[in-house]
Amino acid sequence: MSEPVSATATSATATLPENRPHVETHLSIPVEAQPIRIFWVYALSLGAVHLLSLFALVPSLFSVSGLVVLVVTHILFDGLGVSIGYHRLLTHRGFQCPKWLEHLFAILGICTLQDSPARWVAVHRMHHQHSDHQPDPHTPLVTFFWGHVGWLLVVDRRHDSVYHFERYVRDMLHDRFYFAMEKYLGWLWIYIGHAAIITGLGYLFGLWWGMSTAEAGWLALSWLVWGVFLRTVFTLHVTWAVNSVCHMWGYRNYETRDNSRNSWWVALLTFGEGWHNNHHADQRSARHGHKWYEFDMSWLTIRAMERVGLAWDVIGPKPEIQLAIDRGGDDSQVV
Ligand SMILES: [Zn+2]
Ligand SMILES: [Zn+2]
Repeated sequence: MSEPVSATATSATATLPENRPHVETHLSIPVEAQPIRIFWVYALSLGAVHLLSLFALVPSLFSVSGLVVLVVTHILFDGLGVSIGYHRLLTHRGFQCPKWLEHLFAILGICTLQDSPARWVAVHRMHHQHSDHQPDPHTPLVTFFWGHVGWLLVVDRRHDSVYHFERYVRDMLHDRFYFAMEKYLGWLWIYIGHAAIITGLGYLFGLWWGMSTAEAGWLALSWLVWGVFLRTVFTLHVTWAVNSVCHMWGYRNYETRDNSRNSWWVALLTFGEGWHNNHHADQRSARHGHKWYEFDMSWLTIRAMERVGLAWDVIGPKPEIQLAIDRGGDDSQVV
């Protein structure tokens, strides 16, 4: 791998000494999160879903169909909901699509238990504004645990109320759908509702398969444990890994002012989100994979949506980055 190149625009560091990126080595917890107070709503709900996922260790609760549901729902909720919906569409407006489809993506994202769309977007925009500098809400330069999940477990005064982060998501709160998700805990009801639907479908599937009602009920439990609890935990951790792992380990194509990295295995599990250094270098672009081997499933999906008229105004890489991609993505030729 050749030396990373200096990124331009918002992440440029040209004014810094020797044109080197200004990257901190350690940061303390943001003052807005001090003194440490446990945010019990999150601590209890995240703790509960982790405990409930342990039922997957009960052998009789395993089913092949439950495993299939886990994989399919991860693709739907993390791929379409979080990667394409929450991140590339709502946070960065990397493309446009019909309103009904935008709301559908948001609903899919909610099923990952990663908070309401507006709060997710607000925190992520804060992260881009301050990446690995104070007051980045979740930099692993505090500790790996803090960047991964610790920041979610404590009260951060900026996240106390929707009005505190209103300036980050004004564009979303004009939409009654997103406002309702905040005001009436709509996101929580959607999460509970989706768990009930998956469990119910498991029961119906069992009956359709010819099982007795008792057997179908047990299969429904299997779908609940594997398709909801364990999948939620898995999706949470791979998404959190983008914040933690991808700011600590991996390679850099661009010398951004933060410590962002590209991680192939995180990218594989998150549909392209693991190409995080590329993303920090070119935040608006809906394309995160830049080299030929940087497989980006979400980008391919957005391009497919564009072809059938479900997406338009798709934002691609900046001209200098696009030039390097067109040359074949060879390291030595990037920008
Ligand atoms: Zn980042
Ligand atoms: Zn982003």
